[in-house]
Amino acid sequence: MTAEIISGTALRATMLAELHDEVTTIRSRHGCVPGLVTILVGSNPASVSYVSLKIKTANSLGFHEIQDNQPEDITEAELLALIDRYNNDPSIHGILVQLPLPRHIDATKVLYAISPEKDVDGFHPVNLGRLLIGGKAVNFLPCTPAGIQELIVRSGTETSGAEVVVVGRSNIVGKPIAVMMGQKGKGGNATVTLVHTGSRELGAHCRRADILIVAAGVPGLVKPDWIKPGATVIDVGVNRVGFNEETSKPILSGDVDFEAARQVAGKITPVPGGVGPMTITMLMKNTIRSAWLHLRP
Ligand code: NAP
Repeated sequence: MTAEIISGTALRATMLAELHDEVTTIRSRHGCVPGLVTILVGSNPASVSYVSLKIKTANSLGFHEIQDNQPEDITEAELLALIDRYNNDPSIHGILVQLPLPRHIDATKVLYAISPEKDVDGFHPVNLGRLLIGGKAVNFLPCTPAGIQELIVRSGTETSGAEVVVVGRSNIVGKPIAVMMGQKGKGGNATVTLVHTGSRELGAHCRRADILIVAAGVPGLVKPDWIKPGATVIDVGVNRVGFNEETSKPILSGDVDFEAARQVAGKITPVPGGVGPMTITMLMKNTIRSAWLHLRP
């Protein structure tokens, strides 16, 4: 058996076309243009590159986009005041602060200062609490877990009643996706096991999974004999395992031994080109959702 490849690159293209139509609808029906501000402190090259990708995507969808670059030596108080200004700006529906922040700034304090109504990253404790409650309480799903769920659902994988094993319990991937897969409703209703470095018999847990989601940050952690034949495997890991001198780009690998795993799995995401392209797409989806929510009386 050779697994079907679940392409995040292809799904991103489909979803961006859908989101483009939604922007046209909200603009023509309500005169509302989704507004997103990206705040970048300093000039860390990786952050500059992430931010420019977000801005490019926002522009391609016709958003009102503000790129707010601040100097490395901005004080915490100044940054908090800036966020407060955007919290109160009705043309802005989503506020992003690119991490990491310089050491003299408390990143948690800054992220918690973003209004939960404009927290399109979905990291604010209010939004994580809403995620736990589920159903209509949910405002914004965190972007990477939301992208994982889209990949699973749109690849035609049945989640209801499925055994899902999530490897990794970070606040940005493992914990939220485990909660989402266990919620009642579409794309959920699964039986979820969350494993981590404290788990015994990692392989035995993984072998039970109809859907295996791996977010550990350990290249090649998941071996082919940990995969149930026919399972859907979502590899979230992005690990730099070398450098390609010809392309001047890092060589990336996931947490799953891809070539061997695809001989066993039913469906599998590649790295790169799997979960990665979905994260910014879901950020755009959250911003449009925020614009709709702000139209409510
Ligand atoms: P993280 O905060 O470092 O968390 C890693 C989790 O994996 C921890 O819960 C850790 O367990 C667990 N873990 C590590 N080694 C393990 C092992 N040998 N056996 C079992 N569990 C193990 O990482 P993260 O932020 O969730 O990211 C995980 C990976 O996903 C990284 O490669 C990251 O680059 C990638 N990522 C990709 C995207 C994307 O858009 N594609 C987005 C976010 C992250 P403990 O809690 O016990 O330490």
